[in-house]
Amino acid sequence: MIIKEILGKSVQYLKDKGFETPRLDAEMLLGAATGLQRIDLYSRFERPLEDGEVTKMRSLLQRRSQGEPIAYILGEKEFYRKNFLVSPATLIPRPETELLVEHVLDCIEQAPESAEPLWILDLGIGTGCIAQSVLAEVPRAQAIGVEISEAALMIAKQNSERIGVGDRYHTVLGAAEMAVEAVSKILATAGPQAAFDFILANPPYVAVEDEVQTSVKKYEPHQALFSDQRGLSHLMAWSTTYAPLLSKGGTMMMEMGKDHGDFMKNHFVQIGIFAEVHILKDYAGWDRFIEGVRHG
Ligand code: GLN
Repeated sequence: MIIKEILGKSVQYLKDKGFETPRLDAEMLLGAATGLQRIDLYSRFERPLEDGEVTKMRSLLQRRSQGEPIAYILGEKEFYRKNFLVSPATLIPRPETELLVEHVLDCIEQAPESAEPLWILDLGIGTGCIAQSVLAEVPRAQAIGVEISEAALMIAKQNSERIGVGDRYHTVLGAAEMAVEAVSKILATAGPQAAFDFILANPPYVAVEDEVQTSVKKYEPHQALFSDQRGLSHLMAWSTTYAPLLSKGGTMMMEMGKDHGDFMKNHFVQIGIFAEVHILKDYAGWDRFIEGVRHG
């Protein structure tokens, strides 16, 4: 069998199974099975496949046909400008979360130029993609990541090394609500007055009673998705707990559910340290992020 044939057959197979992006999926899986870049599949259309490659492709297709997300099958997912390792212990980075990174980078760019270290706190890091994407763009930045899942934390650490920001990425294992002391200790290495310029999170925010896509529910870590109190429990606890660690003029920004805007805006106002509180929307136009900027 040659590339052209197996690709055509795989696309048809996934199409028949009702997958929404059969060609993209088939290309990515065939890339993984052959070790070729997606783009090279087309210039090598007549290349015969080795037996091992066919077997590999069959098993990858089998996994996909059961609904396993491509990112878990490949073990990585592109986010912002890098490829991040993912595992069943981590949520798969979502494109909308890139908006959070972009917003932070915009804020940094618009601030007066400085050579001072910039400190970022990321709560519930998963793959580590949020803070590490910022670190990769901003050489003077340092980040602390807090994660309750040891397996996820291992992945995040590997990612920080792969991306080349490991020396500026510090981690704390534990529930964010309980980690203030450990976080403060690391922050204090920057000096007694040190505070966070950015406190960021994509916390679990799906209401326990909410319906989620079958593949999400079946494959992604529930601990990273679901939160009590209509999905607000982590958002409330983490923002309240960590707001005092924000620098003057610092920004707290968290991803939230599309129905959380009004509640979280009120909650941020009640925290009482923010000069401004904004709701930011995602690509689909839903309320998706809550942002508070501390009094200068
Ligand atoms: N946006 C994710 C989803 O739709 C939820 C992520 C989260 O809870 N942080 O599944």
